[in-house]
Amino acid sequence: MAHSTDPTIILGGGFTGLFTALHLSKHNYSQPTLLIDQQERFSFNPLLYEFLSGEMQDNQVWPYYKEILKNHDVKFLQDTVTRIDLDRRQVKLASGLRYTYKYLVLALGSTLNYFGVEGAKEHSFAFRNGKHAVTLAEHLRNCFCRVTQTPDPEKRRALTTVVIVGGGSSGVELAATLADILPYWYSVLGGDPQEIRVVILERDTKILGSRENNQNSLQDTAQKALAERNVPVELLLGAKVYSVDPKRIEFQYQGQFESISTATVIWTAGVTTLPIIKELPIPDDKRDRQGRLHVTSTLQLPDFPKVFAGGDCAAMAENPLPPTAQVAYQQGYAIARNLKALSEGKEPSPANVKLRGTLMKLGLDESAAYLQDRYYFKGRVGHFIRQTSYLELLPTPMYYNLKSTAEWLVEAIFQQYSTENNLTGVGAMSRH
Ligand SMILES: Cc1cc2nc3c(=O)[nH]c(=O)nc-3n(C[C@H](O)[C@H](O)[C@H](O)COP(=O)(O)OP(=O)(O)OC[C@H]3O[C@@H](n4cnc5c(N)ncnc54)[C@H](O)[C@@H]3O)c2cc1C
Repeated sequence: MAHSTDPTIILGGGFTGLFTALHLSKHNYSQPTLLIDQQERFSFNPLLYEFLSGEMQDNQVWPYYKEILKNHDVKFLQDTVTRIDLDRRQVKLASGLRYTYKYLVLALGSTLNYFGVEGAKEHSFAFRNGKHAVTLAEHLRNCFCRVTQTPDPEKRRALTTVVIVGGGSSGVELAATLADILPYWYSVLGGDPQEIRVVILERDTKILGSRENNQNSLQDTAQKALAERNVPVELLLGAKVYSVDPKRIEFQYQGQFESISTATVIWTAGVTTLPIIKELPIPDDKRDRQGRLHVTSTLQLPDFPKVFAGGDCAAMAENPLPPTAQVAYQQGYAIARNLKALSEGKEPSPANVKLRGTLMKLGLDESAAYLQDRYYFKGRVGHFIRQTSYLELLPTPMYYNLKSTAEWLVEAIFQQYSTENNLTGVGAMSRH
């Protein structure tokens, strides 16, 4: 049975959940608040490439929740949610604990989609949080150590070949980063950087297919950047993967069955709805085609107004938004604002999510920024805009001074370039 002292529970401490919690605390939310995540650290995914490459440190990109929430009035619990009972307002955790909530925020994100490819889940690496980045880096260094003691050329090739499945943003950014840093890592151990191979297998006939449909310049820039890395990234477009095992990946390409011997397959090919979200007793007509939960403009479930949902596990029926961090953190703010309104007896208001554009890392010190569907920056200017935009968002206390500078810079950039007259004279910039 629900009591008036039951907490507001936030399930998932990613971009939606953590930013909901931080915003509630900042605005002195009067209700007890509990944030639950299966991990003990928040993963700032857009900067995971910098973490992998060593450009940024773990306390910046992968900070502990207890550090982030140190001065906030939010309790954090590391546990895995195993069941959500919307009728009884209860959540059940892997530890056996059960909680009854007053309000609930569903912010559990998504999970990788392996499309039923044989061996893909078991034998490929994921790259979706800080832990995955550490695992991948350790594996690659280990491969390079082994290759120095491996005379067999075929085995050497497998140890120095990385295959990335998926040519969407994550696959492209990861490939560009690896193609720049792996030659360094290998040469430190005395290896010849030219032995390194980084390959993208993409089923579509172009990279950045679905998300960046109309952004041909971005596709061209990315494709050029991939070709210009320390080792050029090989792009196999129209490649359909059949199976992955610890030694090779098999696929169909240009009508032929092919395989690449490799010790490292990284799966970035797609995401799907989490089983725990699929299992909720919510009918198909209140979900999108991928099973994500439809929410109202105020981010509440239509039949359960005490339950909010945002980020990758939710979808607005009238206004579908891309599953990105920039959407998720803004929805987190909106959910917090509406929880506060409800606690004060006021009406919740619609979430107003602004899509600023696309930011992509295309190697060390190189990025592309495509802003407000109009302005396009690449190279070092793009890199500066990307870094600045993300610094503004980092939730770590040590960044507060830097962040106010970053906020100022972002505003300055957006204001400056919203005036067409100011567009001339910046070297690496072009306009659509
Ligand atoms: C490598 C990478 C790079 C990306 N780059 C960008 C980018 O440049 N720009 C951009 O806008 N977006 C980017 N994204 C997408 C972005 O990270 C997601 O859209 C965003 O994180 C979604 O936020 P969310 O709150 O819905 O879910 P998440 O941030 O994924 O958070 C979900 C949280 O729920 C927790 N959780 C899940 N299941 C359970 C459970 N059963 N019990 C307890 N806890 C659970 C997870 O541990 C996680 O902390 C990137 C994603 C990846 C993987």
